[in-house]
Amino acid sequence: MDCLFCRIVSGQIPAKKIHEDEHCIGFFDINPQAPLHALFIPKRHIATVNDLTSEDRELAGHLLVAAGKFAKAQGVSDAGFRLVMNCNGDGGQTVFHLHLHLLAGRALAWPPG
Ligand code: 5GP
Ligand code: ZN
Repeated sequence: MDCLFCRIVSGQIPAKKIHEDEHCIGFFDINPQAPLHALFIPKRHIATVNDLTSEDRELAGHLLVAAGKFAKAQGVSDAGFRLVMNCNGDGGQTVFHLHLHLLAGRALAWPPG
């Protein structure tokens, strides 16, 4: 299987890493859509939100907690930020390894385009 984010996990492709623990890594998005744009991904390959099972509950929560801690450390938690997981075509997903976007540093429009 050829997965871009699995390659980032294994170190085959470089990324500006901002977080690593037993279960997940965080790194800056290569094409930032906000002054702060980071991605948090499980180390284990999971393609989309559709592929999450109840066994992944802790892992999914882990991504949220890691992103929230990073937002706090970056000083954006009071101003606010957005966490997003795109799923499949209509969701705008382009990389099929689960990832949580953290967007911050500007006022974000709602609804999204
Ligand atoms: P999606 O559209 O699947 O929700 O988000 C994929 C994200 O991955 C995009 O924001 C895109 O800029 C980012 N991305 C794609 N390739 C790379 C890469 O090689 N390195 C990093 N750091 N981000 C990437
Ligand atoms: Zn993968």
